[in-house]
Amino acid sequence: MIRFEDLLEKVRAYNPDADLELLRKAYVFSAYEHKGQVRHSGEPYMVHPLEVADFLADLKLDVVAVASGLLHDVVEDTLTTIERITELFGPEVAHVVEGVTKISTIPFSSSEERQAENFRKMLLAMVDDIRVILVKLADRLHNMRTLHHLPEERRVKIAQETLDIYAPIANRLGMSKVKNELEELCFKYLEPRAYESLRGRVEARRRTAEGLIDELKPTIAAKLAEAQVPYMVIDGRIKRLYSIWLKLKRQKIDLDQVYDFVALRIVTSTVKDCYAALGIIHQTWSPVPGRIKDLIAMPRPNGYQSLHTSVISEHGFPFEVQIRTEEMDGRAEEGLSRFHPQWKGNRRHPCGQRFVSQRRACRRDPSSSCSRRYTGPSASSGSLA
Ligand code: MN
Repeated sequence: MIRFEDLLEKVRAYNPDADLELLRKAYVFSAYEHKGQVRHSGEPYMVHPLEVADFLADLKLDVVAVASGLLHDVVEDTLTTIERITELFGPEVAHVVEGVTKISTIPFSSSEERQAENFRKMLLAMVDDIRVILVKLADRLHNMRTLHHLPEERRVKIAQETLDIYAPIANRLGMSKVKNELEELCFKYLEPRAYESLRGRVEARRRTAEGLIDELKPTIAAKLAEAQVPYMVIDGRIKRLYSIWLKLKRQKIDLDQVYDFVALRIVTSTVKDCYAALGIIHQTWSPVPGRIKDLIAMPRPNGYQSLHTSVISEHGFPFEVQIRTEEMDGRAEEGLSRFHPQWKGNRRHPCGQRFVSQRRACRRDPSSSCSRRYTGPSASSGSLA
């Protein structure tokens, strides 16, 4: 169990001027209000708000967000009123807590795609402070991580809602780490049999795949060094179960035909080096036709940028190579949170920066779907929807 003192230390480390007294007060108040309540796991309730706050601190968010994480269930689950929160913690914390509380009162019943899309839009339109969404995502992530403690019926309901609403929202914010974890957990609870069977098949190939990664890393490093293309990181991964499953289902193919089952990632410091590295890869292995994607020139709607290509190894084993700069790589993992230095002076809409860059991307690429997806008002003053 995470200790409150460790959380304070974490916040102090990235924000030396943080109002730690506010956090202490929020912790004591929340612990008092939730006293006697237990989670389905049998643990004291306070474990949950602490985990939520800890995740928000991992995103290096401000004290208002972290305090709101500690207090996020107080109005919903105890007799505390929002007025009391305003009185004790100020209007900003109260506003975030109220936003999170409101979201849980909207009934979500259908997982039909259009309904889900409408629901996501409605939810985002309601929210005028990105921290509300971030607290809600942190809340959902911890609930999904501890879902096995719930009865099956509730597990399925929560997992479906997560897959339909929260994973796409995390994706839209570019928070791929969160999205990926949510999707893997949803897959496990919604399709337990398919999950287990695919897991077995992937495990059976894991050793070969890891061997391939171990063999490719030094080869790529040597080729790049030989061509004097500097790089910072080369690493490899095996595709996540949920995305393999989607691909098998959509394209009606077999596991052997998944060209990105293994992917190598090259991180460089400049865009120029990305393209140079791509050239080296194509000179070394044969590219698979139709698999080259320039997502640097044409970023995804959520801002993701990278070069992707699939090639065939000497042994006939296909693999994908993803090439991006360090900055693009950080953004791909953490999403919005990486933009927090720009939040200052624009606290209500920290996502302003992200939407500016998306809009630029739209202008460069008129065919990009982001012009359809993002129809909100001006970048710095609009809502998230
Ligand atoms: Mn909660």
